[in-house]
Amino acid sequence: MQIQNETVAIVTGAADGIGWATAQRLAADGYHVALLDLRGEAVSARAVELGSAHIGLACDVTSEASVTAAIASVMVKFGRIDVLINNAGISDQTGSTLEQNVEAFDRVLAVHLRGTFLMSQSVAKVMLAAEPAQGRGRGSIVNLGSIASTIGLPSRNAYSAAKAGVLGMTRAMASEWARAGIRVNAVAPGYVRTALVAELERTGVVDAKRIAHRTPMGRMAEPAEIAEAIAFLASPKASYITGAVLPVDGGWTAFGAPESALPDIIA
Ligand code: NDP
Repeated sequence: MQIQNETVAIVTGAADGIGWATAQRLAADGYHVALLDLRGEAVSARAVELGSAHIGLACDVTSEASVTAAIASVMVKFGRIDVLINNAGISDQTGSTLEQNVEAFDRVLAVHLRGTFLMSQSVAKVMLAAEPAQGRGRGSIVNLGSIASTIGLPSRNAYSAAKAGVLGMTRAMASEWARAGIRVNAVAPGYVRTALVAELERTGVVDAKRIAHRTPMGRMAEPAEIAEAIAFLASPKASYITGAVLPVDGGWTAFGAPESALPDIIA
């Protein structure tokens, strides 16, 4: 779908994984995309890959000053913001609850919750000051939840708290800004083949084969499949959807029987 040329989207954590897939998808839909990431050089290179209509900016979503500076740069370059994708994220610390430390706990909450709050607050200031656009209101925000938002993953304390919190914030902001024409939704992916999951595999937290067996669809997701759902919620096609959480998990959270109830995976 070709969006009007001047439509502008911000994607955080866009140097890799789901963020990068989403930036590519939104660029293909005709958005000007501002790609934000901790790693400024990596995300600038990604923006160059996408073409001259896009920019890459270093931004730490946990820092108010960094977020304010990045949004100011986006406004200088494009003059408006229509879509925000709060995707930046980090994995949890490994080990049992008794072995975990509170600094790492705080860091996970900061990236997912403080980051989503600061980015949404800063972008909403811009959106609320703008005139509503035909068919898309003042804007749309999509947050990244997880299966950990709603079900228990042993020892993933901070990550689960953060992702449940993201859903709470999604509903609160959706309710606050609905009449102002800003929609706020979340996607809740299952396991996706990205660097974040590769790291969990490397540290033994995740066993890819067992994940595939526990997933009704029999495999992990590709980042582009999550990007597709994000792009839909961000677009005018989702014009009456706000405060919603869309699971994109191959049936993971729908399934509640013992694993043996699933047929063997046929490769
Ligand atoms: P990746 O690790 O592949 O990409 C995340 C990106 O966010 C990285 O480039 C990372 O930089 C960046 N980032 C981390 N901290 C910050 C920060 N403070 N400010 C700005 N950027 C930051 O992750 P995924 O693509 O796998 O995950 C993306 C989102 O999707 C996350 O919110 C994650 O929780 C969620 N999700 C992922 C699932 C999965 O299975 N992969 C499942 C469900 C949800 P750096 O590499 O330097 O840390």
